[in-house]
Amino acid sequence: MEFLAGSLLELITATSTNLPPDVRAAMSLISAAETPGTQSSQALNIILSNIDMASDDEGPICQDTGMPTFVVHTPVGTNQLVIKKAIREAISDATRLGKLRPNSVDSLTGKNSGNNLGVETPVMHFDQWEENEIEVKLILKGGGCENKNIQYSLPCNLDHLGRADRNLEGVRKCILHAVWQAQGQGCAPGALGVCIGSDRAHGYELAKGQLFRTLDDVNLDPALAKLEAEIMDEANRLGVGAMGFGGKASLIGCKIMAANRLPASFFVSVAYDCWAFRRLGVRLDAASGAITKWLYRDPDRPVERMTRGKGFPLTGREVVLTAPLSEAAVRALKVGDVVLINGDMFTGRDNVHAYLMKNPPPVDLHGAVLYHCGPVMLKEGEGWQVKAAGPTTSSREEPYQADVIRNYGVRAVIGKGGMGAKTLAALKECGAVYLNAIGGAAQYYARTVEAVPAVYLMEFGIPEAMWRLKVCGFAAIVTMDAHGNSLHADVETATAKELAALLPA
Ligand code: SF4
Repeated sequence: MEFLAGSLLELITATSTNLPPDVRAAMSLISAAETPGTQSSQALNIILSNIDMASDDEGPICQDTGMPTFVVHTPVGTNQLVIKKAIREAISDATRLGKLRPNSVDSLTGKNSGNNLGVETPVMHFDQWEENEIEVKLILKGGGCENKNIQYSLPCNLDHLGRADRNLEGVRKCILHAVWQAQGQGCAPGALGVCIGSDRAHGYELAKGQLFRTLDDVNLDPALAKLEAEIMDEANRLGVGAMGFGGKASLIGCKIMAANRLPASFFVSVAYDCWAFRRLGVRLDAASGAITKWLYRDPDRPVERMTRGKGFPLTGREVVLTAPLSEAAVRALKVGDVVLINGDMFTGRDNVHAYLMKNPPPVDLHGAVLYHCGPVMLKEGEGWQVKAAGPTTSSREEPYQADVIRNYGVRAVIGKGGMGAKTLAALKECGAVYLNAIGGAAQYYARTVEAVPAVYLMEFGIPEAMWRLKVCGFAAIVTMDAHGNSLHADVETATAKELAALLPA
């Protein structure tokens, strides 16, 4: 198996940096259908540029590596232990090379292992089969969309949709509810893998397994094929839009399977994946480990470029902000404004926010821009290079954010998916603003970083440390302003009405 290690590293690198053709095609279609000039359309422009940048430079499409999940089939007699060991080594190598972010944390101590290895990480599923070759499939599904997975136990009552019974109509309601509850937090437009039946644990696993189907695959079961098509149509009429900004682009795929269940249970398990739908696979020669074929790719079809024009066309109406920000500049902003930020910003995720509850910040945050981001960083000589730097889901910081704004004078918080009522009240009271960056656009944002002047709280590990990033032209959209307005709350209310309108008359 002299080529096994190299083949696995190639698979991991390609999965992390180059979206498969079916996902590219779905993103092209949904972007073309979006209303030009809307916030959803602007977000899609950035996303499409980001996809091109990632494959051009072989950089991670999104900074969130996610939980690497391998599904491996081996011929009878192949030593699976050798393959397991090689997978772990390849994951560690890909992390060292900056293709994956160190993303594996001890659940008890919070310590980052630094190489994406740990107890039950990466996830590996092995099966034997009758073929002569080894097949390895890989999916990288990040935390933002993983947190929007949802499981329903039927019968149940659903917000805006009423009772979901134990039949296909009840299943339809659950799936539509799953899209609605995700809003932009899972980096819409998303794709769903759904399992009807099974038990709680296996149902989720089977739902995730549906994400290994290509997006243009038609279900062999006519009833499920019909349901998949209906969901695609109805979900894209809800109005969630890219990043939850409101718009037509909400879902790029829905794949459903049915498994047997216990008479007493009726679960509908939904795995929500984001637009950064990183899934690839290879066939390997069982003796040498060399790649004989790529899965999900057509060798005759060149990689489709995603951008039709310049990635993020400027209109001249963008508001240029230079950090540190004044209260007057921030209070002048309104929901819907596009801003371009210059100057220093500070990253802060879960550990930093928890730290700031009990300790003063390591730097003065008055007027500061606080970025919810866990970047991929590589040490180069004495300095650091940003390899990927998109926003993380902000709602996790809701319990802390208002206090951080009040106590330390933060003027702008950047993240994705929006925040809640407590933060909105603090923005109004203190004269601060929430800016939604485009989730997953890790390459796009990495290119706005001109320098990394400092890092604080490195004891939390690379993604959780507080990085001082000097940026130029960092684009984001005001989605919560200092006047009590929230685009997220507005879109949630509007889409709830559309959801209710989908009920049979
Ligand atoms: S695109 Fe969004 S949800 Fe997907 S992995 Fe990246 S940050 Fe997470």
